[in-house]
Amino acid sequence: MSHFPHQIHEDFARFKEQHAAYLRGDLDALAFKTMRVPFGVYEQREADTYMVRIKLPGGKITPAQLRQVALLAKEYAHEHLHITTRGGVQLHNVNITSIIDIMSALHEVGLTGRGGGGNTVRNITADPLAGIAQDEAFDLSLHVKALSEKILASTDSYNLPRKYKIAFSSSEADRAHATISDVGFIAKVKDGQCGFALYVAGGMGAKSRLGSLFAEFIPEKEIHLYTQAIKQVFDRHGNRKNKHAARLRFLIEELGEESFRAHVEEELANVKAKGGWEIDLVSSPSVPEKLIPFTPPASHEAWWNRYVFSQKQAGLFGCKVPIYLGDIHFEHALKFADALEAIGEDVVRFNSDQNLYVRNLTPEQLLNLHEVITLLSPDSKLPTLFGDMVACTGAATCQLGIARPRGAVEAIHERLAGVQERYGELDGFKIHLSGCPNSCGKHLVADLGFFGKVARNEGYSYPAYNVVAGGSITGLGSAFAIKCGSVAAFFVPAFVEAVLEEWRKHVKQHASFHAWVTQAGGAKILETILEQFQEVPSFKKDKNPYFDYNCEELFSLKGRGTGECSAGMYDLIESDKKALQTALKEGSTDYKNIRFLSARMLLVTRGEDARDEVRALELFKKHFIETTLLNAYFGTLLEGEADERAVELAEEVLKLYERMDHTFHFAGAKTAQAPNVAEAPKAAFSAVLEKDYRGVACPMNFVKTKNDLSKMQKGEVLEILLDDGAPIDNVPRSVQSEGHKVEILGKEGEAWRVRIIKA
Ligand code: SF4
Repeated sequence: MSHFPHQIHEDFARFKEQHAAYLRGDLDALAFKTMRVPFGVYEQREADTYMVRIKLPGGKITPAQLRQVALLAKEYAHEHLHITTRGGVQLHNVNITSIIDIMSALHEVGLTGRGGGGNTVRNITADPLAGIAQDEAFDLSLHVKALSEKILASTDSYNLPRKYKIAFSSSEADRAHATISDVGFIAKVKDGQCGFALYVAGGMGAKSRLGSLFAEFIPEKEIHLYTQAIKQVFDRHGNRKNKHAARLRFLIEELGEESFRAHVEEELANVKAKGGWEIDLVSSPSVPEKLIPFTPPASHEAWWNRYVFSQKQAGLFGCKVPIYLGDIHFEHALKFADALEAIGEDVVRFNSDQNLYVRNLTPEQLLNLHEVITLLSPDSKLPTLFGDMVACTGAATCQLGIARPRGAVEAIHERLAGVQERYGELDGFKIHLSGCPNSCGKHLVADLGFFGKVARNEGYSYPAYNVVAGGSITGLGSAFAIKCGSVAAFFVPAFVEAVLEEWRKHVKQHASFHAWVTQAGGAKILETILEQFQEVPSFKKDKNPYFDYNCEELFSLKGRGTGECSAGMYDLIESDKKALQTALKEGSTDYKNIRFLSARMLLVTRGEDARDEVRALELFKKHFIETTLLNAYFGTLLEGEADERAVELAEEVLKLYERMDHTFHFAGAKTAQAPNVAEAPKAAFSAVLEKDYRGVACPMNFVKTKNDLSKMQKGEVLEILLDDGAPIDNVPRSVQSEGHKVEILGKEGEAWRVRIIKA
């Protein structure tokens, strides 16, 4: 039975009532969503299928819990359980009617999804080697448990401006990525006392930020005091209006570090005055014991050398078990649980690299486990590079996904099949992929990272990835991977192979891939390799690049969720911007092209998509010259043959883009510039502006809608007609995510009528 705080049982009872009301049709989907998401229940991309996320503080899972999750996967979730990139576990393809049964079964073994999603304190991650690492300051496993319990019991943990992530690392190796978390602790010993260095406001995604060192050392009993005080600052001052600028890292930038610190000091005093903040733990600094070497049988040598390590406890060993894409079939999980149960309780930890680690085993126990490990993990036979690949779920199930990184990983495996041993010398090399800029695949900490984007060729969209390289996370100075360019999803496997082959030539001369990329010209070489993969065949010649992996439909943003139309729009701008910047950097004299790209780049913000030069120049004149956003001189450059003055135009457009805010307005401009919008009605709720966006493709329909709304007053009503398919799937949710009230009124012929009340 669970030992959850009383609060969790009360919340679950309420959740059950709401679930029943939703199934009866007495509660609308949106109201139910506000309850289910903080319980870790998300709707998948495919309608009416759900994902259940289960928190595992510090990645710790007992064999009995593993068995229970495996049985749930068998009964409710298409047979697999999935290790997440925060070391938790997910069940996919679940029917909404099964949610309560699943949660009840989880509670029976002490697991919960409370705080697994939404604007809550998320699963606390920790060093997978906590308690066994030779380099650790002390064992922090109990600190993770104690803090998780305090947080679960706090009512203010579930309605924050945005998610709040906490990580604990055992040493400067920062294996839990504390230096890039909202709140990160790195274990330290000072004057014989155990405590932590505290990092704050790090994170990946929009405006990724390395954490700031807030305190060199805080005593171990104060971890909840600081976590709570920072949470309260976030709760009070975080941006609740714009979820895209709501994470703690935005707040610290907005306030400035000094002011942020002052707010935290104030809240520290408040939390102290309230009492109950101490964590009653007194740890002892770690004293590694003398290693007892072990020689495995020759048949197991390759595996042992790659994946097995000595613990700080003499005679005990741990082992990393690489899990392909984090997926474990329930039958394998059950066999694994059976084998582990005979050994002990604390024998396995899941980790944010989507792998698991077994621990506290004698060499004999480990050798006996080898058979079931290889069943669970065929990658255990391969160099670590293959098991270390991380990919988020991407567009296959995630509503925010653009690309399908899991398919790309499969394609990389396929391309390198048969030659994997060649990469044994690259052990430790990490390839991470995210399906969108949100970074669930942690691409910024990888040696070679990818995040999904939309690209286009001759007007056709195709899946692509931005490429980053050289990430390095340590308590001695972390660095995110740097951007090197982009590549069509279709070329990812060939590009990866080319990079690995290149790195093999240099690996012996450099301390790390990071050092090679950032200090020894590696970044330049990667850019050169990327250049070989820039020519995407035309749609008519070869349609393959226009499909994503494991997808039979032509690539589109169909089914993409909340707020993501704008991401597609920014991708279109970035694609022209990049081409323009390259032309300027290389001193191109193709002025016709420079003028065309300059004219087209920002048209998307005006709801226009010009495919040819004449139309682009015409529309640019209308939206940017006639509205005086650019002065009349630039209008004269649009006439006649393009000449070298096109460069001036390009520079001016790039500057203008720098001044654009998320509502498409430009700092310093006198008035709102959205064109083509009829005079907005004045009286709230009394008038309806109607727009027909049938035949207008994504994301233009969204941009046009956004432009319409920018001309309207709060409370005024806009009704739009949208095509079936991607438009009706995407636009209403994107508009809603910007705070407007949205109602889909129904179908009119082939189109959908949508009502929007401006917020
Ligand atoms: S990175 Fe993007 S696509 Fe991947 S899981 Fe996160 S939100 Fe979804």
